[in-house]
Amino acid sequence: MVTPKIHAAILASPGMGHLIPTMELGKLLAINHGFEVTIFVITATTTTNSSNSDTTKSNILQQTSNLNSLKSLNIIVTPPVDVSDKLDPNKPNLGQRITLTMIESLPFIRSQILSMKFPPSVLIVDIFGTTALPMARDLHMSSYVFFSTNAWFTAICIYFPFITKEALLRHANNHEPLLIPGCEPVQFEDTLEILVPPYEPIHEAVVNLTREILSANGILINTWQNLEPAATKAIIEHEILGQFTNGPVYPVGPLVRNVEPEEKREGENLILSWLDEQPAESVIFLSFGSGGTISKCQMTELAYGLELSKQGFIWVVRQPTEGDASAAFFEAKDCDGLPIINYLSDGFVSRTKDVGICVTMWAPQAEILKHPAIGGFVTHCGWNSVLESILNGVPMVAWPLYAEQKMNATMLSKELGVAVKATPIEEGGVVCRKQIAELIHRVMVDEEGIAMRVKVKDYKLSGEKALSVCGSSHGSLYQMTKDCVFHMHQQSSEAKSRGA
Ligand code: UDP
Repeated sequence: MVTPKIHAAILASPGMGHLIPTMELGKLLAINHGFEVTIFVITATTTTNSSNSDTTKSNILQQTSNLNSLKSLNIIVTPPVDVSDKLDPNKPNLGQRITLTMIESLPFIRSQILSMKFPPSVLIVDIFGTTALPMARDLHMSSYVFFSTNAWFTAICIYFPFITKEALLRHANNHEPLLIPGCEPVQFEDTLEILVPPYEPIHEAVVNLTREILSANGILINTWQNLEPAATKAIIEHEILGQFTNGPVYPVGPLVRNVEPEEKREGENLILSWLDEQPAESVIFLSFGSGGTISKCQMTELAYGLELSKQGFIWVVRQPTEGDASAAFFEAKDCDGLPIINYLSDGFVSRTKDVGICVTMWAPQAEILKHPAIGGFVTHCGWNSVLESILNGVPMVAWPLYAEQKMNATMLSKELGVAVKATPIEEGGVVCRKQIAELIHRVMVDEEGIAMRVKVKDYKLSGEKALSVCGSSHGSLYQMTKDCVFHMHQQSSEAKSRGA
């Protein structure tokens, strides 16, 4: 039987951490599962015209559009929208800014969809795009929510409307662990910003958002069963959390950006050429994701800690900020024209010029992590960074900043045993230089680091297996494809009976 072609529209919310896995999902659906795919790349305004991350974004879009096999993948970049006048300037709220940008982009997306000759029958959004789900219902499309994060965090979202306010208060005020059926409890020190009071009106908004997620025809997650056996079981099984979702849950990961093998590398890249000269597994890479920033004082400690560790390093350095760890998420500034040295302790760059490189703002992370000279990764634990590290067999120093990153750090260090975790002296405080040097030493030099490297390489193999033809994640996407075909038939027979 010939399977009819399905057209899926996918919305990628602003931020490289959302764009990268969304593009990978689109590619997989087009290449391996016969979909026609249109990806809407939602764009927010930034205060600068160009940045290294913008260049990377254009490269990713260009590379994807150029792939011959991907005639069935179209990319539409939405016009940038500015929501700054709708935000409270005194209370930076990353989630709110992304969500508002999504809402403002919807009229454009809707008109594009309505003008298509072969309109999509499937809409896939990430968790910031759930405001588009009513549009999917209106246009008789089936809807899917893609969590570009792990099953544990997804489990909290699924269960959130059913957690009593009393349990939330005990968690916030008495620091009792938050119990999620079938999953590890969330300890208060790892909790999400939204679980700390005051809850109103955020509580109401989060419940509404998660109810919208639960109503979707399915949920996709960028994880795989063997990485998170308990949490994936919990969200799939009807007896546990599966009862709360309208449709099935599909773990489809690990989806990470594919990097050209070394021998096919195009052009000269100073960082990669420098790495070529370094011994195997001798260099530690430090990066806080696409938008992470640290304070001036923390930056000074980190610089001294790196020096004390006596390891080769590559460090992605950004302008320090006070009190907003996600400050560079939209405003990918090129350090305002100031040389890196202005942000770092006296003489650091000159003292370390033979052992390390400081990169301003943005580095080719996926390429760096793939390089054999990399032996460890100091990461903010954004889920893409975690997956890129695991799939390159690189153990981590887990240094979470915001969102669900503290949970990720605990999972990596306690459950999976592939990271050591940085602990600030006090809540919101700095991680001191002595601790930084010790953490790097534990990963790069100690027996503990060797054991972590063995474990992370096992997870790498298990991730690759999940994506292979007989693997669990490949099977999940195959099943999702069949479900989409089923919905499409259902929708067309409903349309016939409506006389449409
Ligand atoms: N990234 C990069 N270069 C940088 C910083 C980040 O290529 O200097 C990429 C990184 O490889 C990852 C993504 O940006 O794919 C960041 O996603 P993640 O989920 O780790 O963190 P987020 O930025 O969403 O907090």
